[in-house]
Amino acid sequence: MIEAGKYRHVFFDLDETLWDFRRNSMETLRDLLATHEFQKRGIPPEPFIQRYHHHNEQYWTLYRQGTISRQELRTARWTTTLKEFNVHDDEFANHLSEEYLRILPTKKNLFSETIELLQYLKPRYKLHIITNGFEEVQLRKIETSGLASYFTHIITSERAGSQKPRREIFLYAFDITGASVRESIFIGDSLEADITGAKGVGMDHVLFNPERMPHAAEVMLEIHELKELRAYL
Ligand SMILES: [Mg+2]
Repeated sequence: MIEAGKYRHVFFDLDETLWDFRRNSMETLRDLLATHEFQKRGIPPEPFIQRYHHHNEQYWTLYRQGTISRQELRTARWTTTLKEFNVHDDEFANHLSEEYLRILPTKKNLFSETIELLQYLKPRYKLHIITNGFEEVQLRKIETSGLASYFTHIITSERAGSQKPRREIFLYAFDITGASVRESIFIGDSLEADITGAKGVGMDHVLFNPERMPHAAEVMLEIHELKELRAYL
């Protein structure tokens, strides 16, 4: 059961929980495809973006499983998508990959009421982020989008040397923040990474499911808008 009085530390996931990854990624891809005149090259931007997202998810799964490296993830999602549109140019793929990573963290879209919620929580709890992602990219997103001042500790998988849902990253987070599992709660959008991870260390958890994706998992609490948390915390 979620009991407000119990917690001192509130841990959040970043991408797709606070920072609107899909929207920011979409904007970045549209910028990039316009700059490189994909339409003129005969590549329709919207279908390309759809396929890119598809491959990106597949490669992220492989990366999480430890099957491919970070660099492979970064470039393979581009080379594979380009090949589907008959572009066989690794140099171009590398260039797009670098540009994407440069532009993405400059985007600022957050989920609605993120800042209002953090303003409410900040005087009441210690707030932290646990994110699977690259240190440099995630920190830049947090800075640029105005999230930095709300959080005491930001734990990236790169820094922790372990990724959600593995126990090690949560134990690392408890160690760094001085939090105990009993006085901590985790809020995230991913059943696979966040909820499984929190359950793995016996941590109270909330699933943020704005798209109302159907699932069969048992979760302590499920919310569809961030502001719903105020009723519990
Ligand atoms: Mg997420």
